[in-house]
Amino acid sequence: MKDQQLTSLLNQMTLEEKIAQLQQLAANFYEGAEEGGQITGPMASMGITDHMIENSGSVLGLSGAEQVIAVQEAHLRKNRLGIPLLMMADIVHGFKTIFPVPLAIGCSWDMERAELSAEIAAKEAAVSGVHVTFAPMADLVRDPRWGRVMESTGEDPYLNGRFARAFVRGFQGNELTGDVSRVAACVKHFAAYGLSEGGRDYNTVDLSERQLREYYLPAYRAALDEGAEMVMTSFNTIDGIPISGNVKLLRQLLREEWGFDGVLISDWGAVKELIPHGVAEDEAEAALKAIKASVDIEMMTECYVHQLPALVADGQVDESIIDEAVLRILKLKQRLGLFENPLRGADIEKEREVIFCDAHRTAARELAVKSCVLLKNDQVLPLATEQRIALIGPFANNGDILGPWSWLGSTEEASRLAPALEARAAAGKVTVAEGSGIESLTEEQWLEAKAVALEADVIVLALGEHSEMSGEAGSRSDIRLPEAQRELLARMKTLGKPIVVVLFNGRPLDLSGVIENADAILEAWFPGSEGGAAITSLLYGDENPSGRLTMSFPVSVGQIPVYYNHFNTGRPLHAPGADKRYVSQYLDIPNEPFLPFGFGLSYTTFSYSEPILSGVIMTKDQPIKVTVTVTNTGNVHGEEVVQLYIRDISGEVVRPMKELKDFVKISLSPGESKEVSFTLTEEQLRYYHSDLNFSSDPGQFKLFVGPNSQEVKERDFRLALEYVEYKR
Ligand code: BGC
Repeated sequence: MKDQQLTSLLNQMTLEEKIAQLQQLAANFYEGAEEGGQITGPMASMGITDHMIENSGSVLGLSGAEQVIAVQEAHLRKNRLGIPLLMMADIVHGFKTIFPVPLAIGCSWDMERAELSAEIAAKEAAVSGVHVTFAPMADLVRDPRWGRVMESTGEDPYLNGRFARAFVRGFQGNELTGDVSRVAACVKHFAAYGLSEGGRDYNTVDLSERQLREYYLPAYRAALDEGAEMVMTSFNTIDGIPISGNVKLLRQLLREEWGFDGVLISDWGAVKELIPHGVAEDEAEAALKAIKASVDIEMMTECYVHQLPALVADGQVDESIIDEAVLRILKLKQRLGLFENPLRGADIEKEREVIFCDAHRTAARELAVKSCVLLKNDQVLPLATEQRIALIGPFANNGDILGPWSWLGSTEEASRLAPALEARAAAGKVTVAEGSGIESLTEEQWLEAKAVALEADVIVLALGEHSEMSGEAGSRSDIRLPEAQRELLARMKTLGKPIVVVLFNGRPLDLSGVIENADAILEAWFPGSEGGAAITSLLYGDENPSGRLTMSFPVSVGQIPVYYNHFNTGRPLHAPGADKRYVSQYLDIPNEPFLPFGFGLSYTTFSYSEPILSGVIMTKDQPIKVTVTVTNTGNVHGEEVVQLYIRDISGEVVRPMKELKDFVKISLSPGESKEVSFTLTEEQLRYYHSDLNFSSDPGQFKLFVGPNSQEVKERDFRLALEYVEYKR
């Protein structure tokens, strides 16, 4: 269908038909039924109401080619103008083949594999009839109490931007219309949802516009620059205004300033939530504020359908605003090729071939290997095939390691650790015991585990958080492992055997109770469908851990927020001659995080040469080339993430102590050296000034190269040029 035809289609639509396009209902949501609407017809057994089929332009949560085809066909039989439904779903880290959670993918620093994970997720979702995925989540996260940190790739705006782009490329490919194995990407949650106060989900956000632009917006922007078709609003307020009614953020910044002309959808129920937030008295006011802010689709609640007709009739909403929203939705349907091919990729036959196929599982396993981070290793790992292993703990043989947003995954059996470890170890060398529940420890469990442990050479303890302890509505104020598991570990320690802890969790943890009792710790996050196999290959050294943290691990909850790219203060801790008492510090804990951004161990070691600079004066036209030689100084092959940071010594506003500007992941055989070069340009030194101009300041800078944000080698350079005006 051509653009012109879309306009003529729009002209044929009644106001009610237009408003129906702005409504999204869920397959399992009986809003119509609650209001006395009957669930009738052939879709009743699938939870699809006539109300939904007739009154919405899109549906959330349907998947499975058979169901999608039935619903689309039923809808088209009823829809006067033959406008197909859009099928949307949360395909966050895989569809049926589950990849590690995004925070884990972040720790891989591997853009190709991240892109491939999204491409595979799209393939499996598309063949099951999904058109749009509510991903990637590009929220910057600095507070591990917030359960949704596992949906982000971490605390760095630059790295998050790189991942957001990789995910969008993977989901969408180059061309949505012809390629029915891709899905449209909806970047979320716009904006700054990750800054919820106290890490409590859905809570207030308040920050300066400069902070918003500098740290929180870049990753969403990167996703849009990569062509993401849709944007989802966030639940929080900014400057007192809930986002789904925030004209400044949505209409002025996203639409007018950034030129985003795609579909903007509210988060689940967020339009009606303008009422409890306290900025709308009733549904009518909520609908008015949301449509004025340019929210096109209302997810789940029905303020638009109920209220917009009257708001248009009495002149409070101009019908042209509704037309613009409808046209954006029709255009997305057009770009997906739905007018010509309303069933799009949905294909019952192919579904069986594509989903959870060997190639997809291999990709999931490889990415899980790259995502695990070795946090400690006092010469216990890797394990030897002949060692007797006591595999103990609530995650020893637990399928709940797929992580949040994986309910469509049908693969939990395949993911378990115990069978994978048993298959790799010499016959009969692995004995398994539960040891404890996630939050409980009985005497019986302890006695069984103790007996198993006493027979072993090494204890592997699989500990962690239940998948519902993170993700949406998964905020925690105490981010240590649950007490029962810390107790299990402490008791195990008394047996005098080496202990390897494998952690399954969705956030950086406070490791107290773990770090002192474990000889080795492998952070496996929620590793997905192939978690068991991936972890096994790392434990036995068939693979060498190469993941690096993209979110700092705090010393304790009291230190939060703690992130590497923080500001200095006027009273820094280590200033020469500083008064030891009146400096910015805690009296009881250090300022630095327990484990810094970028950190991760390997079974080998790497050394870094002093960085060599092509010059120490940078100009606008003359970048600086930084070269460093990295050597594998150990005995096994390994991968290293070489990281480049800068600091602007004196800015117009305070600049972070370090900012990641580039990185390279290299692979080195024992004894091998590689030269790594970065080209640092003036553009990379730009930032938002107090007047919101995005520009660089001439003057003194530092650059740092190293294996993480703390252990770095530094050099000085100057930016010599006139003040560069650059308005973004
Ligand atoms: C979440 C979104 C999600 C939506 C649809 C909301 O509760 O915040 O991230 O995309 O539900 O499932």
